[in-house]
Amino acid sequence: MARKVVILDGYTDEPAGLGVPPYIDVYPRYIAGAVWSIDPDADLRYYTIDQVRKDVDSFVKEANSSDLTAIVAGVVVPGKYIGGEPISAEELKLLGRLLGNTFTVLAGPVARFGIGQEGGKIATSPEHFKSIFSAVVRGDPEEYVKQLLKEGEVRASEYAMRKDYSEVRRFAVLGAKIITQHPNFGYNLTVELETYRGCSRWISGGCSFCIEPLYGRPVQRNPEDVILEMRELYRLGARAFRLGRQSDILVYGSKELGEKELPRPNPEFIERFFQLARDAIEGSVLHVDNSNPAVIAKYPEESKKAMLAMIEYHTPGDILAFGLENLDEEVAEINNLNSNEEVAYEAVKAVNEVGLLRGDNGMPHLLPGLNFIIGLPGERKASFEKNISFLERIYEDGFAVRRINIRKVLVIPGTRLSVMWRREYLERNEEEAERFEWIVRHVYDVKFLKRILPRGTILRDLYVEKSSNGKTYARQLGTYPLLVELSGTFNRPCILDAEIIGYKGRSVKARPVGEKDCTHVMAGT
Ligand code: SF4
Repeated sequence: MARKVVILDGYTDEPAGLGVPPYIDVYPRYIAGAVWSIDPDADLRYYTIDQVRKDVDSFVKEANSSDLTAIVAGVVVPGKYIGGEPISAEELKLLGRLLGNTFTVLAGPVARFGIGQEGGKIATSPEHFKSIFSAVVRGDPEEYVKQLLKEGEVRASEYAMRKDYSEVRRFAVLGAKIITQHPNFGYNLTVELETYRGCSRWISGGCSFCIEPLYGRPVQRNPEDVILEMRELYRLGARAFRLGRQSDILVYGSKELGEKELPRPNPEFIERFFQLARDAIEGSVLHVDNSNPAVIAKYPEESKKAMLAMIEYHTPGDILAFGLENLDEEVAEINNLNSNEEVAYEAVKAVNEVGLLRGDNGMPHLLPGLNFIIGLPGERKASFEKNISFLERIYEDGFAVRRINIRKVLVIPGTRLSVMWRREYLERNEEEAERFEWIVRHVYDVKFLKRILPRGTILRDLYVEKSSNGKTYARQLGTYPLLVELSGTFNRPCILDAEIIGYKGRSVKARPVGEKDCTHVMAGT
């Protein structure tokens, strides 16, 4: 008899990979692929934690009647999410205890590193879940599930890691159809795609706080496999894709990846890959995510060629996210960070030179996103001044950034930071950190938004996500999409165009224009 399997998506957020709605990460898809590779007739049901919260009893009944329930979770880089609320440690424990009649597998970053909803220490380590779940998978979830279904519980290893992507090739395509069960499918679902794992900086140990170097030498995925998966996802109905599962998209395909700390980009490879990707997902949104500013600063010509190739085939509104973390040289040295002010400046300049041009959806084609971390060892009051003077410098020199993220450090067991971090690092500069965040949100966010999106700019294809108190919040599809506030109540599904009329911190205010593709407009302007 075919097995019944339940996957609960508690959402994931890692340095290289996002799985909070409207995104679906690779974990549930690869697990589904592993299940269907062993048992093609398996009855596989996918739930998100937000669906479960609405009706816990039904979910528990459903899961307890299954042979296997896999829960994927783990927010390693905590953020604020408009599309969903990640599962908490308490919810995980509660659900684990309620699922007494099924084999429960806890997987994803929560099982590998633990869980922590906000900055500071990991609140709950994987050990806390060992007595609650049948298996806490420290290795690759799809590998464990495959072994479990094929060889049984005793032989399956919770630590099994894939050596390469040969099995992912099959699992990714087989598991793709799980997306059709996602609540955002057919609307704003955005599929996260993987091109490689690990960071080129593994050679030097990488940044003190980061989990990517722990994977060792980076292993690249065959580009044909990525395209094959995209084609299948597109065939099933996916219309928004993000190449977000890698530490630096510009060095995907580089012959030096794994050999050198700063690999030379391979623009010819990037051009061919993006061309094939575009062919596979005709008319869909295609965005990227992380990049290493030090690579761009070291190889500006190759990097710009690679960026131009991406721009040829991607969707405007794209972002290359730079983990600057802190531009104080002392902090950079202690934490082995990847850039300093000059490196960051050159990288911001290079992206602006090729990407600032506005695209047909109203957004500039490609801009940098800047990430800062608060609470790293070595941080001092002067560190924040350095970060602010950098923002002022790039603004004064006419450049733009699309978004600035600031987060408190999360200390993950196994990282170098975990042995040198003390809570006082977060506390001693609390006032300066708050002031820094205030200045960024009230001064630089607005300055940069005004520069890239002047009043009167029309933003196309905004997907309504939420309405409350007579206001509606909508975003385009893609990577870190800009939040747009509209007055009036528009119920989803609703896709509209809007003209920018004002600015509000990190978001813009706009009024709808032209034809509205909205089936349930209750009120509006
Ligand atoms: S550059 Fe640093 S933060 Fe980025 S993936 Fe590598 S080690 Fe992690």
